Amino acid sequence: MKKIKYRQETLAVHGTATTDEATGSINQPLYLSTTFERGKNVSSDFAYSRESHPNRENLEATLALLEGGERAFCFSSGLAAMSALLQSLKAGDHIIIPRDIYFGAKNLIKNIWERWNLDCSIVDMTDLEQLKMALRDTTKLIWVESPSNPLISVVDLKKVAEIAHHCGALSVCDNTLGTPVLQNPIDFGMDVVMHSTTKAINGHSDVLGGVLVFAKDDVHCQRVKEIQASAGAVPSPFDCMMIQRGLQTLSLRVQKQCENAQILCDYLDQHEAVEHVYYPGLKSHPQHELAKHQMKGFGTVASFLVRGGEVEARSVASKLQLIFEATSLGGTHSKIEHRHSIEGAGTQAPPNLLRISFGIENAMDLKEDLEQALNQLL
Ligand SMILES: *Cc1c(COP(=O)(O)O)cnc(C)c1O
Repeated sequence: MKKIKYRQETLAVHGTATTDEATGSINQPLYLSTTFERGKNVSSDFAYSRESHPNRENLEATLALLEGGERAFCFSSGLAAMSALLQSLKAGDHIIIPRDIYFGAKNLIKNIWERWNLDCSIVDMTDLEQLKMALRDTTKLIWVESPSNPLISVVDLKKVAEIAHHCGALSVCDNTLGTPVLQNPIDFGMDVVMHSTTKAINGHSDVLGGVLVFAKDDVHCQRVKEIQASAGAVPSPFDCMMIQRGLQTLSLRVQKQCENAQILCDYLDQHEAVEHVYYPGLKSHPQHELAKHQMKGFGTVASFLVRGGEVEARSVASKLQLIFEATSLGGTHSKIEHRHSIEGAGTQAPPNLLRISFGIENAMDLKEDLEQALNQLL
């Protein structure tokens, strides 16, 4: 490993692997081997790839540096990362999650973890009084998602971290929509940062992955390391290499996506067929000032309400020609989705809401596409 003190964009391009000695390859080679020779010929610590692996180690070390943490652990998906963290708790422990948490995360807790006696309270995380009221002696973890998916609410990370520390609970931020470029939750005192690396970090909608970054290499961090190695929800070497490659352009992509998001949210905000736009870059957003202070940009994902109801919203989504009607976010292609029908029962998304993930296309092309789809409602 190189000793590195470079800034974020440089770190993302270079990673942490040393130049390959055998060939001089400037990109780390892909090591498909699951097993590594011990003893006589080699000095590496690698033994078996469930426990550790060169491509995974490079990705983990790079992501730890990008988030300003001491250790990171990569998993085969974002929800596998979340699950590994929940596995580090024990039956009867209490956790607090936001009402507008990513829908898949709520399903994971409700459908699987509650059967293992994990006790869970749901609060409006933008209301710190509600959070304080929900605290118990058994509260071990407070989970926040900021900005949230798909309601794009912004949570005060510093205040939540303070509340968590006061009661001895672990504070965790799902920073998937924030991205390491726009927001580093550890700087605000959070203990753990989680990402679905499927989204902006890989950025090309072609790999699933997740990561947990720990501020400190402490007892809890070591427990998660053990879970990663023994439960084994690890990413393949190829997936790690693809995510490492995606990382090289992360800051460029996110900058362009934020620019597109602001231009198009300003446009949507004044359109007659649009009732409301959820984007922290708009002055009307309830946490606009907080986002300005906490983030270096307002993000790449927004939602908006189409005037009318579900029928009108779905008709707009289906009339788009350039923007894909497809799930997921953070990639180079712009995508739109009617979350209410995708999430089903228990959804927090209003029936006329469309979530849009801005890609890196030309902003005018995106505007013209939205315009032709929206104008049909006028
Ligand atoms: C997609 C997503 C996840 C889940 O990640 P997967 O890689 O799909 O398992 C978690 N949180 C947020 C905010 C997401 O957008």
